[in-house]
Amino acid sequence: MNHPSGTQVPFNRPFLTSHEEAYLQEVLASRRLCGDGPFTRRCQDWLTAALGCEKVLLTPSCTAALEMTALLTDVAAGDEVIMPSFTFVSTANAFVLRGAVPVFVDIRPDTLNIDESLIERAITPRTKVIVPVHYAGVGCAMDAIMDIARRHDLLVIEDAAQGLCATHAERPLGSIGHLGVFSFHETKNVVSGEGGALAINASRFAERAEILWEKGTNRRKFLLGQVDKYTWTDVGSSFLPSEFSAAVLMAQLEASQEITQMRHELWGRYHQAFAELEARGLVRRPIVPEECRHNAHIYYLLLPTNEMRDAALRRLQERNVQAAFHYVPLHSSPAGQRFGRADGALRHTDDLSSRLLRLPMSPALLEQADQVIAAVLEVVGAAA
Ligand SMILES: *Cc1c(COP(=O)(O)O)cnc(C)c1O
Repeated sequence: MNHPSGTQVPFNRPFLTSHEEAYLQEVLASRRLCGDGPFTRRCQDWLTAALGCEKVLLTPSCTAALEMTALLTDVAAGDEVIMPSFTFVSTANAFVLRGAVPVFVDIRPDTLNIDESLIERAITPRTKVIVPVHYAGVGCAMDAIMDIARRHDLLVIEDAAQGLCATHAERPLGSIGHLGVFSFHETKNVVSGEGGALAINASRFAERAEILWEKGTNRRKFLLGQVDKYTWTDVGSSFLPSEFSAAVLMAQLEASQEITQMRHELWGRYHQAFAELEARGLVRRPIVPEECRHNAHIYYLLLPTNEMRDAALRRLQERNVQAAFHYVPLHSSPAGQRFGRADGALRHTDDLSSRLLRLPMSPALLEQADQVIAAVLEVVGAAA
């Protein structure tokens, strides 16, 4: 349908800096193409410094980084891993691959992050790990979560897939739990096509992480001259991205402040433009707790009902604005029912996910902000 109100606004358009191409040329010219090369090291050093953590390893995806955490924490068949149901499938899948059971806990209505006050009652003798997911780059209540983990001797893996360049109580997301994972998928803030990273904050995991990363061998030690031959020493897989991914990622990391700032500009324009809709009770805008510095990863609105959300999605599409929902809760998906269990009624998860509408978000879409805003005001504002 061709509507007069402007060109197609995609939900996401990856933003590129002026350096990806030069760095890719550098990789080609160097003939050093496989993983663990100069660009991989530069990205890892950059991330280690930015996070202030013990070690960072680049991975082919955040999914792969999550799978590494499942191996590192020795999660085994029948063990339980506490996480929100309101998350991407990989958060759960990584542990299900090891035979563990995801135990889904409800989310907080303000941030849509796991409700820390419901975690303790979900703990059983089989519980091993808690996986807080920082939705939209807004930090979970990490102080409370780390305290629960300490008291029950559990490990905390932060799913900071959406959390680069965001903090909770001044600490970078992904640097607070024992391990943290990031995504550089093209839908995230800083991208390399497909890509991810594992941040190791508890030093006891550092040595083994390198072995798992290098297919279960001690090749890294060999390269450092610490052993005179390398051999198979543990389980592992090919968890290294190629230098092409790392080259693109390096350009993006160097521009990450600027990227975050541009996203905040768009986020802020949306937020201001929809204040009146909120005052009229037509939407609820995102809530960011005072202790969180977020990264403008997602801008969403909560509509009053599921029917109104679905209608808004459709009507925005008719106006060439591609909006999106998030997520089909894992506990109500076929695999989630088969492999996991919900702890109690997930009231907010069911309710909020049915009413959530995400708007186009990318620095590359700043120029189309007015079109999106006008369409939303028309579609949602006129609904009253
Ligand atoms: C994007 C995302 C992932 C998966 O990231 P990939 O890099 O695509 O594997 C995992 N968890 C959350 C919360 C995500 O948003």
